[in-house]
Parts: sequence; structure tokens; C-alpha cells
Amino acid sequence: MKIASLFSEKTVFSFEVFPPKKTSPIETVFDTLEKLQGLNPDFISVTLGAGGSGNGGHTLTIARRLKEQYGITPMAHLPCINYTREQIDVLLEQMRENGIENILALRGDKIPDVEPAKDFIHASDLIEYIKTKGDFDIAGACYPEVHTEAENMEEDLKNLKKKVDAGATHLISQLFFDNESFYTFLDSARSAGINVPIEAGIMPVTNSKQITRMVSMCGASLPRKFTRIIQRYEDNPEVLRDAGIAYAIDQIVDLIASGVDGIHLYTMNQPYVAKKISEAIESLIK
Ligand code: FAD
Repeated sequence: MKIASLFSEKTVFSFEVFPPKKTSPIETVFDTLEKLQGLNPDFISVTLGAGGSGNGGHTLTIARRLKEQYGITPMAHLPCINYTREQIDVLLEQMRENGIENILALRGDKIPDVEPAKDFIHASDLIEYIKTKGDFDIAGACYPEVHTEAENMEEDLKNLKKKVDAGATHLISQLFFDNESFYTFLDSARSAGINVPIEAGIMPVTNSKQITRMVSMCGASLPRKFTRIIQRYEDNPEVLRDAGIAYAIDQIVDLIASGVDGIHLYTMNQPYVAKKISEAIESLIK
């Protein structure tokens, strides 16, 4: 099923999972998948490291298992910065063979000391290329608080529009903790002529180290009511997890009440957290 077709029917609710490290067996993620599928998301996306030789095999195995074993529509992430055209061709062929119709086309983060492959400079280049390679539904990433390499929102939105014009049928946002920043971005995106559905990326915070790492990578701003939680409970993992779940639910309720197109939950492969959130918002997303 093409994910783009879902947005006209309902508020889309999706999950994101990541494959185990290359050194770990693929089976270590199966238990997580089984528990997540019971929560009945509209689709599950599977990340793929930007390293080039990375874990593409694991990503495709997980995507295929989601579809065949659990009947869940998968979306495979595909970062292009360190892949040659030939490597992308191989991955697209494998997706086709495995019946994977939905791709999140990404540039990927630059890796220090790794020279990019240079066949694809921006995600929009990859989207244009995939369009010539078959009948895939292609999504792109967007940044409510501006991508770290962009000068400002205006420039970032101009580039985002190129992605949509190249063929992205919907967008998934970077995580954010301040809904107001998402609403400002959404208004600006619509004014810039970006009219495809935009899912809000929500990451429930479950430990303080994770949040420090994520925020340093993506530059998300932290509202005071959020930092108060971190400061108060950083040494009490169980309470921090519960407070993080409550914060995410509060964000999601506000987003849905405001008419958001969809919620993309960064599950961090934690079914307990995804379950608590899914149960809390179940009646809102029907
Ligand atoms: P682009 O759209 O290429 O944008 C990157 C920068 O270039 C921006 O500053 C943009 O303004 C600018 N730009 C874009 N197009 C043009 C253009 N045509 N001309 C000039 N400038 C342009 N990374 C992974 O490696 N694997 C994953 O699985 C993964 N999953 C992700 C999922 C989501 C929902 C999100 C939000 C991010 C994910 N990332 C992943 C991280 C992502 O790869 C990085 O954020 C990366 O730095 C940018 O990727 P992009 O696709 O947005 O790039």
C-alpha cells in the first residue's frame, strides 16, 4: 500500500524503528517488531545508516518481515550521501523484489573523514532518481527548527519545496519538543507552497543521555517545562521514562487537536513506551 493514500482518510499514526548494530544478529529486533505490530500503526519505517556499506540488508529484512509476517506497511529509509548510483540501483532492485513500495529518501548526515560518494548531493537528487526507477511512494524529511546546515527557515523551505517538486508525496519532521515551533514551521511551509501532508516527529524522552545526544545532533529547542522534567528526574530512570511518556502524549493530543496530518513516533525500539502512548491516544486517531 502506498502511504500517501492514507492521509485523506485519517490522522496517520506511524512508528520508526532501527535495525540492530551490524555486529548483533537481526533476530534481536524481532521481539520488538512483534510487540509493535500489536499496536496497529498505519506503517512502520526502518532506518538505514548513512555509512554506505552499512546495514541495508538488515533494513530490508526488517521491512520485508513487517509486511509478510505482520501485515504492516513498511517504509524503508534510504540515505544517499555515501552511496554510488550503482549501490542505490541495487538497493532499489532489492526493495522491488521484496515488495517494499514506500521509501523515505534522505541525504544522510555527513560522516567526519568519509568522502561522500557525490552521485547524489541532496535528497531531492535521490527523489528525482527514484522517480525514474519504478512506482515507489517517496517521502522526505523536514525540519521544524531549520536543518543545522541551512542559513535560515526561508532557505530551508526553498530547498524543501525542491524535494516536493521532485516527487515527495509527504514529509516526516525531525523531532521537536515545542509544538509552537512546529506550528510556525507548518504555516511557513504552507505559505511557501508546500502542500503535501506533513507528519510530526515525536520522540518520547526516556533517558537523559539520549536527549543530550539527540539535541546536540539536531538542535531542537527545549521548553522550560521539558528541562524541568529532565533536571528533576535524570537520576530516576523509571520516573523519567513515565514523565517522558506523559510529555509526548501531551504534545500529541495538542497536535491532533490542531489538525496535524500525522504523528510519527520515534519508538527507539521500546515497545513499552510505544504501547503506553498508543493506548493513551487511541480514540483520537480513529
Ligand atoms: P537534504 O534535503 O538534502 O537537506 C540537507 C541540507 O541541504 C539542508 O540544509 C537543506 O536546506 C539543503 N538542501 C536540500 N536540498 C537542496 C538543494 N536542492 N540545493 C541546495 N541546498 C539544498 N539519516 C540517516 O542516515 N539514516 C536514516 O535512516 C535517517 N532517517 C531520518 C528520518 C527522519 C524523519 C529525519 C528528519 C531525518 C533522518 N535522518 C536519517 C537524518 C538526515 O539524513 C539528516 O538530517 C541529514 O543531515 C539531512 O537529510 P535530508 O534528507 O533532509 O537532506
